[in-house]
Amino acid sequence: PKLVYDFAEGNKDMKQLLGGKGANLAEMTNLGLPVPPGFTITADACRAYLETGAVPDDLADEIDHHVHLLERKMGKKLGQADDPLLVSVRSGAAVSMPGMMETVLNVGLNDDSVNGLAHHSGTPRFAWDAYRRLIQMFGKTVLGMDGDVFEDAIEALKRAKGTHDDLDLDADDLRTLVGTFKQAVLEHTGREFPQDPRTQMDLAIEAVFGSWNSDRAILYRRQERIAADLGTAVNICSMVFGNLGMDSGTGVAFTRDPSTGQPGVYGDYLQNAQGEDVVAGIRNTVPLADLEQLDKTSYDDLMHIMATLEGHYRDLCDIEFTVERGKLWMLQTRVGKRTAAAAFRIATSLIDEGVIGTDEALQRVKGAQLAQLMFPRFDTSAAKDLVTKAIGASPGAASGQVVFTSAAAVEAAERGDKVILVRRETNPDDLHGMIAAQGVLTSRGGKTSHAAVVARGMGKTCVCGAEELDVNVAQGTITVRGTTLSAGELISIDGTTGEVFRGEVPVVPSPVVQYFEGTLAPDAGDELVASVHRLITHADEVRRLGVRTNADTADDAARARRFGAEGIGLCRTEHMFLGERRESVERLILADDDAEREAALAELEPLQRGDFLELLKAMDGLPVTIRLIDPPLHEFLPSMEELAVKVAVARERGSASEHDVTLLAAVERLHEQNPMLGLRGVRLGLVIPGLFAMQVRAIASAAVELRARGKDPRPEIMIPLVGAVQELQLVRDEVSRVLTEVGVDREIPIGTMIELPRAAVIADQIAEAADFFSFGTNDLTQTTWGFSRDDVEGAFFSRYLEKGIFAVSPFESIDREGVGALVRTGVERGRATKPDLKLGVCGEHGGDPDSIHFFHEVGLDYVSCSPFRIPVARLEAGRAAL
Ligand code: ADP
Ligand code: MG
Ligand code: MG
Repeated sequence: PKLVYDFAEGNKDMKQLLGGKGANLAEMTNLGLPVPPGFTITADACRAYLETGAVPDDLADEIDHHVHLLERKMGKKLGQADDPLLVSVRSGAAVSMPGMMETVLNVGLNDDSVNGLAHHSGTPRFAWDAYRRLIQMFGKTVLGMDGDVFEDAIEALKRAKGTHDDLDLDADDLRTLVGTFKQAVLEHTGREFPQDPRTQMDLAIEAVFGSWNSDRAILYRRQERIAADLGTAVNICSMVFGNLGMDSGTGVAFTRDPSTGQPGVYGDYLQNAQGEDVVAGIRNTVPLADLEQLDKTSYDDLMHIMATLEGHYRDLCDIEFTVERGKLWMLQTRVGKRTAAAAFRIATSLIDEGVIGTDEALQRVKGAQLAQLMFPRFDTSAAKDLVTKAIGASPGAASGQVVFTSAAAVEAAERGDKVILVRRETNPDDLHGMIAAQGVLTSRGGKTSHAAVVARGMGKTCVCGAEELDVNVAQGTITVRGTTLSAGELISIDGTTGEVFRGEVPVVPSPVVQYFEGTLAPDAGDELVASVHRLITHADEVRRLGVRTNADTADDAARARRFGAEGIGLCRTEHMFLGERRESVERLILADDDAEREAALAELEPLQRGDFLELLKAMDGLPVTIRLIDPPLHEFLPSMEELAVKVAVARERGSASEHDVTLLAAVERLHEQNPMLGLRGVRLGLVIPGLFAMQVRAIASAAVELRARGKDPRPEIMIPLVGAVQELQLVRDEVSRVLTEVGVDREIPIGTMIELPRAAVIADQIAEAADFFSFGTNDLTQTTWGFSRDDVEGAFFSRYLEKGIFAVSPFESIDREGVGALVRTGVERGRATKPDLKLGVCGEHGGDPDSIHFFHEVGLDYVSCSPFRIPVARLEAGRAAL
């Protein structure tokens, strides 16, 4: 297959092959926008390289051909001594991974051509600066050298000159620096810095391929659930220079504000600089609007191009551009990352602007974003000690102890402490710390700095550019207007307003939660709430999946109902055996004969009836699926070890109580090596006479009582952990008998959980004895993979994620191929027996966006999730239906 595409040969839909950057460079080229010419090496070539460790055979020839075409177009050659063609070698995967992989600029310079460039550009300073940047980036990225080697040399030179500003280094200084850098390369690698431009290019390409598997890229992919085997494309792009003088510069721009979604001119600009300087936050940028004064022509061009891009992509775009001596060049665009709030506001604005329809607007927002909008905010009425106000770069309200390094953040998080990572600026190596921290605070850089971009992508609270803060990492202090904050001190940061407070500020529910609670009207003037209301209302209109909640208490049920739950999909009954009721459970287990057992059950029954009364009342008129007791009974008894010690100690003193001794015998008898696979679920019902019957009587009589009070209770009885239809049939007979006794046998459906692979496979048989199925995908995942959820997540899942065995834990998001296939089988076979069999899912997956789409596809009737996930599930069920 073709491995190299000229920018003019691609388009925006070729992301899988050309990566996002390459596909969009191609799209802009074909739109006639000013893109420096170049070509893209496909992600296929990268995958081949990663698999075999060598670039594909044909690649060198194809690159030769395209270099040749590029040289013709540019009228100069790579390595040409008097006027060299220079290129950048840029990573760019199908999915945006900002700053995670590598890029090398100014490839093609060497000891000869640097003089040509100096002469031709008329500014030797610029040429030597370009050359030192090449060696620096090449050393770090391609030769694997420590970046500090170079940074330290620059710092030393600046100190010698008594300056803090890069711009004070003149051509001679930079020439000296090039010498120092080349010497460092020789010392660290044993080889000279390669002078042949094509060798530079080839090595840089391989390094970019390899950067796909850098630690930080792997970590980022895991965080963002990006597949491990996509690989990256490589873009070879002829260089344009923002560092040719004050009439040159570089910047980033957004077509709308990525934090709020407001229309307007947003971005940062830096004069006399090369691209990476802006993102690195090394020097402070000016707002993009200032470019209008600095260079009106370029500004107007940029505004025009931004409008073109928004019109073309019909969405917020972000842009990298460079001005070279008054001429504007476009270096990158993509549909831009944005905060959750901006996503909702932009989606509804675009409806109002007539750009997109409501369906498409719904597609543009995600459940995960809605979940973010439901996080608490700082209480505006609380007393606060404001330290400074800077740029709110990524919203949220975060409090924690000040830490200054990523290592400290990770350590604290492992201890369970909440921290705020405070840095002058962040770089890609800070990713670990950013993940571990509650929030990130930087003293430099704008909305487009590394910290801001990455935090927004992760949904992490971030305040940046807090220039008043003097961050001294070595001393572990921040000084600000005469006061000092030390490491370990509590601070709070508000990623919306940019405020930084001393101490921990109390939080209140977000406006979006108030809206769902019904205490804030959608038309009360909060634009974000209005957007959420419009889109979730549309989701409710289009979705086919019902949304129920998992709830065991009336309070949870009532909240879930306010959030839009259409019933309970899973009420666990085990909590009804806890607390003071443990004693009755003990008596039940220790019973020697039927009379004792019945007495113990008789104690439990009215208590359970009371619980069911409350729950059914809270969900009046809506279905309430009640699962009969599931966990092994010894979970309700004291721990075997503790009891054994207690009895042994007492025996020693000759004072062991008879009760403890019997209890210990029972605990030992009931002890299991694999409780998860032991005496639980339907098996309990079959082994302990009267237990299920008691629960069913409590449910049925609660229903009768409510009906007598004019209510409309709709309980459904669910039998857990069935593997054979015989099990279900036996229990069903008992349940039906009790229901008939109470006189409600017709109204209360009896169903089962499908949570064992066998049950899914013989679902056609099981359906004979079931009025409904609910897929218990937690247990189904455990039993399908043979993973014990409580044991494996800490033990080896991180390895599995690193090695790409899965991109996300199968307990978080359903494993479509394995567990999902069983669900599909269960659906098909169940419905083959009973076409109108009601099908749902309970378990964590019911609130997970990807899984919800899967459940929609396989034709379930509803998902059930925790109360707080209900809005997310409604939204995603709507998106799934489009
Ligand atoms: P990233 O994906 O990390 O943004 P890029 O490949 O976009 O990496 O490049 C890093 C920086 O270098 C960006 O600021 C970009 O604009 C700049 N850059 C890349 N190629 C060129 C080029 N050909 N001319 C000028 N600047 C460039
Ligand atoms: Mg870029
Ligand atoms: Mg289960």
